[in-house]
Amino acid sequence: MAKVIALSNQKGGVGKTTTAYNFGAELGKRGYRVLLVDFDSQGNLTKGSGIAAGKNIDDIEETIATSIDACIAGEAISVPVYKLSAGLSIVPCNISMAKTKMELSLALARETMLMRCLKQVKNDYDYIIIDTAPSLDIDLINAFVASDEIIITSTPDAFSTSGTRALMKSFRQIADNLNPTLKIAGVLITEADQRTNFARDMIRGIKSAWESDVKVFNTVIPLSVRVRESQAAGKTIAEYENKNAAAVAYALFTDEYLKEYGEDRKDA
Ligand code: ADP
Ligand code: MG
Repeated sequence: MAKVIALSNQKGGVGKTTTAYNFGAELGKRGYRVLLVDFDSQGNLTKGSGIAAGKNIDDIEETIATSIDACIAGEAISVPVYKLSAGLSIVPCNISMAKTKMELSLALARETMLMRCLKQVKNDYDYIIIDTAPSLDIDLINAFVASDEIIITSTPDAFSTSGTRALMKSFRQIADNLNPTLKIAGVLITEADQRTNFARDMIRGIKSAWESDVKVFNTVIPLSVRVRESQAAGKTIAEYENKNAAAVAYALFTDEYLKEYGEDRKDA
């Protein structure tokens, strides 16, 4: 049965979507069966995955919102899965999630809807990776209730560390009340321009501020313009430029994650 991991931080622009895609693809390359779940109405993961190349993602009819709508209505749930490569698939999301989120906030048993949807596909994968929206609302609660672990991404700056702090508070509330086995796997620092003293100081600061509460991964994802280019091309950074420092870092991060937390899920 899949381990479910939510990528999260209340702040936007801190590498959640980029990490969901590239970490998911690296796990896929290592032989795991990986399902990405876009759970942000901006649909950036859906866009970056290239499944709607040349089209408007808002024209995709079957998304995670369709599954949640069925769950709210008490109808049979089907989860629309699109294959990206041998080990990697995606459940897309688009603007329709904004309306679904409003309905979700009034529904009975509202916190468990995503969990119930993912139950349908959990046996088919080793890892399910949820890309969350920058929010602390009912959608984030759903993602945390559906997950086994959270990976927090943070850029090396003060705003994103305060986003991390807000997230830790929500984590504690949800873990205490709704999902007692939920764990924070760690904080991954992304988009770091390590040539600057400022970034180096911030990274040291984040490590010393958080290390007593939560693991801060040793691997740091460097800033590279190629990452943006790869997303525009609907590719992972490794597919776009294999030797790029961010591509190498995502591979190293995946190894670090698996060394720390990986069971042999291929045989699980
Ligand atoms: P979030 O999902 O937290 O909002 P994204 O993953 O979408 O963050 O990243 C925000 C922006 O930064 C995107 O335009 C993305 O292409 C860019 N980005 C992410 N990681 C890197 C990186 N390592 N180097 C350069 N740009 C990056
Ligand atoms: Mg995002």
